[in-house]
Amino acid sequence: MGPRITLVQGDITAEHADAVVNAANSSLLGGGGVDGAIHRRGGPEILAACEQLRRTHYGKGLATGRAVATTAGRLPATHVIHTVGPVYSRHEDRSELLASCYRESLRVADELGARTVAFPAISTGIYGWPMDDGARIAVETVRTTPTAVEEVRFVLFDAAAHAVFAAALG
Ligand code: ADP
Repeated sequence: MGPRITLVQGDITAEHADAVVNAANSSLLGGGGVDGAIHRRGGPEILAACEQLRRTHYGKGLATGRAVATTAGRLPATHVIHTVGPVYSRHEDRSELLASCYRESLRVADELGARTVAFPAISTGIYGWPMDDGARIAVETVRTTPTAVEEVRFVLFDAAAHAVFAAALG
């Protein structure tokens, strides 16, 4: 049986979960949207951990579709899992890379022993992915990925995104 899927409308930085997923960019050094909010609210410890990862493992940055964990700093969550979503393209199908973000994040969550994981709608902000397609890929991938995670919580920023995810859940 896959994880229970729940939907929440709100700010992912407020989530009490074993892990919250960051829609990061490959630099791991911060950005806008979810990334900016996580670093602002989580404090400098997260950035320091990201800088350390860049030095030790990811000199060229984290590849699109991959995921890696750090401390959650001052966030109520225990861990942050940083994943790099694909930029949406109308000319090239990058769905597999977006699915990989959810799969890889769940794999890292399993390594951490996380039971509850909160995801934002990866790539649907600055990276331009249409919300309905992003929601479909998110739900399908979580439903078909073997994991010991018990609850996946999608945290949607506004009512419109929440409604689109509710429709994707069926
Ligand atoms: P990406 O660069 O992967 O598109 P963004 O952070 O720009 O990532 O946006 C991803 C999604 O997260 C968008 O739907 C955006 O509205 C939403 N979002 C932005 N800030 C937050 C937040 N603090 N909590 C939850 N969702 C957020």
